[in-house]
Amino acid sequence: MLKCRHTYYDILISKKSPFLFILRSYFCTIMPDVHSVQTRSFNMSRIKGKNTKPEMMVRKFLFSQGLRYKLHDKTLPGKPDMVFPKFKTALFINGCFWHGHENCKYYVVPKTRTDWWQAKINGNRIKDYDSIKKLEQQGWKVIVIWECELKHGKADEKLKNIANELINK
Ligand SMILES: [Zn+2]
Repeated sequence: MLKCRHTYYDILISKKSPFLFILRSYFCTIMPDVHSVQTRSFNMSRIKGKNTKPEMMVRKFLFSQGLRYKLHDKTLPGKPDMVFPKFKTALFINGCFWHGHENCKYYVVPKTRTDWWQAKINGNRIKDYDSIKKLEQQGWKVIVIWECELKHGKADEKLKNIANELINK
């Protein structure tokens, strides 16, 4: 993500005060890539965790429509975020970054450790694909909601469509 921004200022400082330059370089070295680490932890906690904001939004809405569900059913492939036994439907609410949403502005591979992230996200994509395939083979209908589909006033329409899709299967 963001790299140390001090480099440019360092060049300016170095011309005026070599001492300040050394001091600054030292702090940048002992705290490498601090911004990206913070941003990353934020992304990880937000996207990988359970009970995320998008998840809560979906649960609340579908419950209000009289739909009942099980959460994070470990007995099913991929441990779907929500399972509707009555409609034999499994629902995943995917964070765009963590699950690598193709052509989505929220899926941007970090500029540091790019290969590692790419491998990690590709691994998640493969797992997602496998889980969906297995569920379908077992006769489950699978719905995937992407985090970005619930943003910027789009949530209401998306959630209504999901409810209709469930009920009018
Ligand atoms: Zn997305």
